Amino acid sequence: SKEKFDAIVVGAGPSGNAAAYTMAKAGLKVLQIERGEYPGSKNVQGAILYSNALEQIIPDFREDAPLERHIIEQRMWMMDDESFVGTHYRSDDYNKPPYNRYTIIRAQFDKWFSSKVREAGALLICETTVEELLLDGEQVIGVRCDRLGGEVYADVVVLADGVNSTLARKAGFHGELDAGNVALAVKEILFLPEEVIQARFNVKDEEGVVIELMGKVTEGMVGTGFLYTNKESLTIGVGCMLSDFKANPQRTSPYTLLEKLKKHPSIAPLIEGGEMKEYCAHLIPEGGFNAVPRIYGAGWLIVGDSGGFVNAAHREGSNLAMTSGRLAGETVIALKAAGQEPSAARLKLYKDKMDESFVMKDLKKYRKLPEVLHSSPQFFTAYPELVNRAAKTFFTVDGVDKHSKEKEILGSFRSKRSLTGLMGDAFKLWRASR
Ligand code: FAD
Repeated sequence: SKEKFDAIVVGAGPSGNAAAYTMAKAGLKVLQIERGEYPGSKNVQGAILYSNALEQIIPDFREDAPLERHIIEQRMWMMDDESFVGTHYRSDDYNKPPYNRYTIIRAQFDKWFSSKVREAGALLICETTVEELLLDGEQVIGVRCDRLGGEVYADVVVLADGVNSTLARKAGFHGELDAGNVALAVKEILFLPEEVIQARFNVKDEEGVVIELMGKVTEGMVGTGFLYTNKESLTIGVGCMLSDFKANPQRTSPYTLLEKLKKHPSIAPLIEGGEMKEYCAHLIPEGGFNAVPRIYGAGWLIVGDSGGFVNAAHREGSNLAMTSGRLAGETVIALKAAGQEPSAARLKLYKDKMDESFVMKDLKKYRKLPEVLHSSPQFFTAYPELVNRAAKTFFTVDGVDKHSKEKEILGSFRSKRSLTGLMGDAFKLWRASR
């Protein structure tokens, strides 16, 4: 068809939905194309939803969004094979509405978000893959799909097609996916009765707990694990850099890591009896600031995972996706209102908005982290082991005097790393998160 839209949004994940909703709500003519059977059909994971980014788009989302539990306790565990040393932060402040974060099941959440997009007036077409961008010289003027008679036209195309972003690569907007810039994560949803979850995690009603895991669980690869409480299920997963999986001499698969994690003596009792219903593997763009490609050009904008907007250090992705989608939408609205052409120079407004937002500020803050972690496997092997051994020495009462225990602990650190090595690591970590 020769019908022309103000904007075409490719993808109906959090970033695409945020962009489509924002533009449709402002009265723009929006077409959204999703290759899945329905939005969320390709995204079966449980996850954490950070309220703030969604509040900026749909302030009253709590009225009907499918939310699992609001998080009142955040745990961080550093693990070796038998034990963990952890910090737990629990606050009654997190128990006062409006809640700051929730667990969600993505399949349900994406479906809900998409229903809002359609209510706002956007046209959604599913089971349709965008195969390439249509260009007039440098200007993107539409997309070619595998259905719908092929070509559809728009002033602006918003690429919200996720981490693989074949479209942007095909068009030459960014290079091949680098295995050093993406993590491969696997996760499972394990079903358990509500009362069992509440008892095991010391919560009531819809209160929830999040556990972030690091250490021996990734066998020296750069990565982390996690355990989230949903209403009647738990989400457990682990992810490591794809380049590390490739280079791993034992060829450990993500699935093997997850099975090992589930058997850890501190994890097994929490998930015991859980019935596995969903299993999935997915890539996460974790290259950070330095891996962000060009995100705008003549007639096109890149949002969400397609642009690499994930803050791996803080486990945030969907909120960056939604914020970038909203800012892209607001950019198109502003150009439309001013009657301006969607040239690269005009669409730079999106980049400016992103630079001003927490998204680019946070990515910039941690820009050195991926490199530091890559070059310092001791953070994932030696240190977790040392810390756990130190805790054991410290807490075991066995007739050895405390002074000797302190010496033993210090000695064990010094035997693994020189004093300069220890100080250097602390300095590197501090600099990388400054
Ligand atoms: P996606 O959600 O990937 O959506 C892209 C959509 O585009 C898909 O629906 C896809 O089918 C569609 N599509 C792709 N190509 C085409 C095409 N050519 N034509 C038509 N449609 C197409 N973030 C958090 O905030 N909290 C968490 O707890 C969290 N946990 C995570 C756990 C795991 C295991 C993973 C993998 C990620 C996690 N993230 C988390 C990150 C978060 O999931 C992503 O940042 C977020 O989903 C990005 O949204 P998006 O809309 O950009 O991409």
